[in-house]
Amino acid sequence: MQYVSTRGLAPALGFADVLLEGLARDGGLYVPAELPSLPTPPPAGDYVGLAAAVMAPFADVPDLAGQLAEAYAGFDHPDVVPLVELAPGTWVQELFHGPTLAFKDLALQLVGRLMDAELQHRGDRRTIVVATSGDTGSAAIEACVGRDTLDIVVLHPAGRTSDVQRRQMTTVAAPNVHNVAIEGTFDDCQDLVKALFGDGELRDELRLGAMNSINWGRVLAQIPYYVEAGRRVGPCDVVVPSGNFGNVLAGWYAKRMGAPIERLVIASNRNDILARWANTGALVAEEVVPTLSPSMDIQVSSNHERLLFELLGRDAESTRDLLTRFRTLGSVEAPRSTDFLAASVDDATTLAEITATLEERSYLADPHTAVGLRAARVLDLGRDRPVVCLATAHPAKFPDAVEQATGIRPALPERLADLFDRDEHYDVLPADPAVVGAHVRAAVAAGH
Ligand SMILES: *Cc1c(COP(=O)(O)O)cnc(C)c1O
Repeated sequence: MQYVSTRGLAPALGFADVLLEGLARDGGLYVPAELPSLPTPPPAGDYVGLAAAVMAPFADVPDLAGQLAEAYAGFDHPDVVPLVELAPGTWVQELFHGPTLAFKDLALQLVGRLMDAELQHRGDRRTIVVATSGDTGSAAIEACVGRDTLDIVVLHPAGRTSDVQRRQMTTVAAPNVHNVAIEGTFDDCQDLVKALFGDGELRDELRLGAMNSINWGRVLAQIPYYVEAGRRVGPCDVVVPSGNFGNVLAGWYAKRMGAPIERLVIASNRNDILARWANTGALVAEEVVPTLSPSMDIQVSSNHERLLFELLGRDAESTRDLLTRFRTLGSVEAPRSTDFLAASVDDATTLAEITATLEERSYLADPHTAVGLRAARVLDLGRDRPVVCLATAHPAKFPDAVEQATGIRPALPERLADLFDRDEHYDVLPADPAVVGAHVRAAVAAGH
């Protein structure tokens, strides 16, 4: 399988190069040159076998099934992505059974292994630099820890993650893991990462690499659980708590490949640029406001570019033009698709949904999952056909919101029970590219 850039000015690459490259050299995102169909009927058997069959046409790597089996061996549920029927016609698919309790483990546990295998094969290495508002950082650290081919530097905004999120990052004591609290916002962290990548000398010297969801490997590894939902529940709608558009985009690829998904629902918190686009076609950026579902506090959803490229008939020039106008004007008319429905849910309603889900359905939902459950209610889904709401985080990851809504403080799973007794390791730095660049250089050198 070859991959092409959405901006049309970078060379086509194979899977391994796309995995290590991250962003295309022309600033675009890599997408598959053509979309294969799902095997019909979908293979019987366990989730790992299904995932291997779905992903094989995209990723020509040695022993994909073995890599998947290892990636998901540590998950604490035998089904990996179990489906639970909360009420007749309303299901949740739990995507939080991995090491860091959010759905990002499903992709990053695999991506870390695939990168490591390819780098060993090439005798090469990478320094992964990640900006996080909370969940990506810990999932990326867990993907890198103990791998000689990878160093990882995670920038999080000082004081703006939950305590659980911060401790999941900063209590990992490993020579190749470096945490930095930036005196600033998540946007500052993201700008710093871009500045590091923009420094050609540093980029080459440290062999910088990316693990955020612009990396095609992450989108790809999310396609199989949509296929699994269809296999288990039959033709259905799927509701996706959304921020950077990576998760719901994987669902769209699954549908295009033949998974029996009728509609994909973009569930947003008050940062609802995607919901407004889906409902009106206008793509208008606004200020990011902090909410109870912080992993969705984002306005410029990088993966949206992959869908716009498809909706523009895979015309790279039109895609370039649209994105340039959006970046300069902050507002454009963009093509949309009837594959999507959308709803946005504010914090008060999110809390009310956590309460109602516990009272009516005896299920404790995290705030991100609750945004999706409420979107399904608002759109009156689950009557004509089943609706599957993706549960993207474990409630114990956001104990304050859950306790506020229910009076119950959810306990961390056994393996994280001593999280608050562990020592934290991180440095605090100003949001200054020169200071952060020098720090990254020194930290990576000291780790070896
Ligand atoms: C990252 C995240 C999301 C948003 O997913 P996108 O792929 O960025 O749309 C939703 N919920 C949780 C818990 C997350 O960690």
